[in-house]
Amino acid sequence: MAPKPSKAKVAPPLKAKLDIGTRQSTLVRFSRGSYASHRAIERLLRQVREEGIPDASSRASQWRARAAIAGQVGPFGPLVQDLVLPHSDITYAVQHPMAMLHFCCGDEKYVGFVCLMRYALRNHPPADGPWHLVMYADEIGHNPLGHDNRKCECIYWSFLEFGPAALQTEDAWFIVCVIRTKQIEKLSGFMSHMFKLLLKRYFFNSQNGHHFKNSGVRIVIEGKSFFIFAEFGAIVADEKALKEVFCCKGASGFKFCPICYELCDHKADPAYQIGYIPGTCLDLRKLKRQYNTNESIRHLLVDLRDMHARWQRAEITKDQFEKTEKHYGWNHEPENLLLDEELDVKARDVLMHDWIHIYVVNGLFNVEVQFLLLFLKAAGILPRMIYDFCSQWIWPKHMHPPRDVFSDARVSFDNDHFKCDANEALHIYAVLAVFLTVVVVPKKICILQVQSFLKLADVLDLLSMVKHGLVDAEAVKLGGLAHLRAYQAAYSVVSWIPKHHLSIHLSDADKRLIGCLPHERRHKLVKRWSKDRYTLQSFEKGVMEELTLEHLYALETDWLSPGLVEPRAPEPNILTAFQDAIGDPLADDIKCSMTARVCHGSLVSAGDLAWAMIENHRCLVDVVYHFESGGEPYTYVNMWESVPGPSDNAQAATFREISRETDHLKCVRTECIVASAIFLPGARPNVATALVPPFLR
Ligand SMILES: [Zn+2]
Repeated sequence: MAPKPSKAKVAPPLKAKLDIGTRQSTLVRFSRGSYASHRAIERLLRQVREEGIPDASSRASQWRARAAIAGQVGPFGPLVQDLVLPHSDITYAVQHPMAMLHFCCGDEKYVGFVCLMRYALRNHPPADGPWHLVMYADEIGHNPLGHDNRKCECIYWSFLEFGPAALQTEDAWFIVCVIRTKQIEKLSGFMSHMFKLLLKRYFFNSQNGHHFKNSGVRIVIEGKSFFIFAEFGAIVADEKALKEVFCCKGASGFKFCPICYELCDHKADPAYQIGYIPGTCLDLRKLKRQYNTNESIRHLLVDLRDMHARWQRAEITKDQFEKTEKHYGWNHEPENLLLDEELDVKARDVLMHDWIHIYVVNGLFNVEVQFLLLFLKAAGILPRMIYDFCSQWIWPKHMHPPRDVFSDARVSFDNDHFKCDANEALHIYAVLAVFLTVVVVPKKICILQVQSFLKLADVLDLLSMVKHGLVDAEAVKLGGLAHLRAYQAAYSVVSWIPKHHLSIHLSDADKRLIGCLPHERRHKLVKRWSKDRYTLQSFEKGVMEELTLEHLYALETDWLSPGLVEPRAPEPNILTAFQDAIGDPLADDIKCSMTARVCHGSLVSAGDLAWAMIENHRCLVDVVYHFESGGEPYTYVNMWESVPGPSDNAQAATFREISRETDHLKCVRTECIVASAIFLPGARPNVATALVPPFLR
């Protein structure tokens, strides 16, 4: 049967019909009346030029189109389904995990997700055993200082089998629900109850057979059929969210660690600490002897449930019950996820602290830098000197330069921790380490404090390599302990926070380390779609439909493979250069771009210095341009040559640009580029000292 003709009408090009004045006037009128960013208008007009104008475009039509696509029905029902919470007559919405998985695998349009599944199926064939679900929970607010009735709890899920590189990208995570915090607070048991409901209804539902572990999910990829079975593998979250999901006492409790049974807050009244291990203990053998197991946690919770019943029968007093809760380090909650026998969640095995929150979100980095600055100031090294040093460095275009974090406006010695966000911390720590090595170490001042920070930088190096699959739990454990010992040598236990102890558990067992950066990036999308809604009517359903459509759109790109970002046709004068580079003067499918995705989804733009592996050699290159032909991405680079300087070491190396007039301008496959470089321009022209990424040392 002949395909139906498209209903889209192709708009006549304005350029041909209008003189310049009218064309400019028409262009600026697109921005008037209702606000849309210039980038949005550019994208919209480009799409209209390529695909034409749809017959209907009113808000109601847009709403119907969104609802139709998000409501597509498959073997597991619609993608976005209604959810009615207990004791509530309000209907919320969830993205059904199995429906979404089935849908994304079955359509080759979602090439990014199909590639990811192909990779996971090759490395973890379903016949070898069940996969492992990993979930992430976090709260997203719009107004941290005032009333915020759009504050939401977001729950994401993925498979551990996708691998550490994919799990560091936002598109490898599905979002199961976004529900206003106020609505979840109406549930007894709050987030623990919410998790239980979601797991029992949508992941492990024994009533209707939608059960990841028992019946699995049948998916079809590229014509081949697979059954994916999965069990609950991990919950990753910050300390606050884990406390809410598991109902443990949390960081403010006397027993703040859900894994350690005998560990207590070292700042508590010494009389209470008798018989406990203080939270500052670094004796791993002593700590391991008292770790909770899955079974011991279950026993504690069942015991608390019995104690609560006895208190209700007036057999014991409220005081006795609360003292038991404090002694156990857990709260009683009838709807606790961990008390559900059918789900049988193994608390110790699935609990996973998010390393980003432990180290760089009001974490160990922030505490340590605050005290380091105090010690350096006392020794005559002012934050201004660090600021001046950092100001000379250049960061890649896609990174927001964090050089002003040490400016007078940002540094305050009145705070108990250094204030900067997670990205700033991760982009500045290596430069600060260079400053300490080059400027402070030769002065032989603050020796212990500098050693402690350099150990911390080593740990952050290790954690940054997790996504490359080059680091194991043992290395993180040893590095983490070495840092904690160096911290105590430098500062004793001053400003020792629960996160110092919790960092020890990051490397427990064979857990894979997962950071929250992809979720923080995804939060921006959630904020965008939850902020712009005028009313709270059908809030959850509208937000879930928009987020589902956004995710489907993103999955159309193979985001994990090297490729161009927003490619477009090249100008005729440079087309020939690209045709020459690939040796095909007739190639007519060439596209080019200023920015490309490289290793693990990182971005590298024209003008950046970047690290490349060319013929098995580590090279520094100047990125000139990206282009693609036949779907294969290439990059023009200008080579730099190594000219080791006196202060070079494993962390930093000096290079000199080879003149562009020579034939050192090279065309390489984009997959050779492995990371963008942070560098310090040298005193001589065309010389730079670049930080060597940990995975290239
Ligand atoms: Zn512990």
